[in-house]
Amino acid sequence: MTSFLSILLPVMVSGRLSGLFRGPFSGLMSPGIGSAGLLSGVLVPGVPVGIAALGVVAVFGAMIGSFLNVCVCRWPAGESVVRPRSHCRGCQTPISWRDNIPVVSWLLLAGRCRSCSTPIPARYPAVELATALIWTGLMMHYGLGWRLLTAGIFFTILLGIAITDAAAYLIPDEFSLGGLALGLLLAFAPGGMTIRSAVTGAVLGFSLLYVTAAAGEKLLKKPAMGGGDIKMLAMVGAFLGPWGAVLSLFLGSLVGSIVFLPVSFRSRRPVPFGVFLAVGAVITELWGAGLMEWYRTDLLGF
Ligand SMILES: [Zn+2]
Repeated sequence: MTSFLSILLPVMVSGRLSGLFRGPFSGLMSPGIGSAGLLSGVLVPGVPVGIAALGVVAVFGAMIGSFLNVCVCRWPAGESVVRPRSHCRGCQTPISWRDNIPVVSWLLLAGRCRSCSTPIPARYPAVELATALIWTGLMMHYGLGWRLLTAGIFFTILLGIAITDAAAYLIPDEFSLGGLALGLLLAFAPGGMTIRSAVTGAVLGFSLLYVTAAAGEKLLKKPAMGGGDIKMLAMVGAFLGPWGAVLSLFLGSLVGSIVFLPVSFRSRRPVPFGVFLAVGAVITELWGAGLMEWYRTDLLGF
């Protein structure tokens, strides 16, 4: 982990230099990012720099995904992610490093514990793969730089929330409040949003759902919305600013109504709103600016 960080971080910091990505991937990267072969001396010679960098980011993402697996298992149960070490839930045997390589170990072990053959759920490699794809996808969208780090952390947190909310209707404070702190901290990074915008977004996000929850409770005479959703939208606001919080809430409610209300109506399952708020936040992060521009010029006409 540390060795990958030591490669990635200097590149991220200097990612605004021009021309890091020449070669077959240059068309995929945002213009103006990168400089002559910063990575080429580090990684396999002869491999185009874009592909090598994507590989590094994919491995880094898979390792983040491996840690995310620990978080989504332990935080909802109120357990520490540091201690005890990862162990088999069947026989309690600690998992050695070679059985803990993201995706690869699960495939080599054919999805079973080495000591007791208890099945290891396919969710583990799936989350690792998903996180690797998120980070590589974001790199192709943003190139290397602070924006990739910020969006990567944001999307990883959103994935964690979507998993715990879908599985147990729970949004651990470590994701929402921990993410809120990270979002405010990352607002100090160059090229992103201002700290003022992050704070306003967090306050507005919290207030929007707090008021909605209070009004809903008055109308329905029962709790209408979990406190986890409220803290989550505060976190989303810290990453996306006030307009981003509003758009995420709107899109999340829209997608949630279309997808889940018919299901909820039949099975009487409550809506895991955090899942849809996460979807809304992802759309906003990637295409929010364009959506708002389209709304302003094409629909409102100014
Ligand atoms: Zn076992």
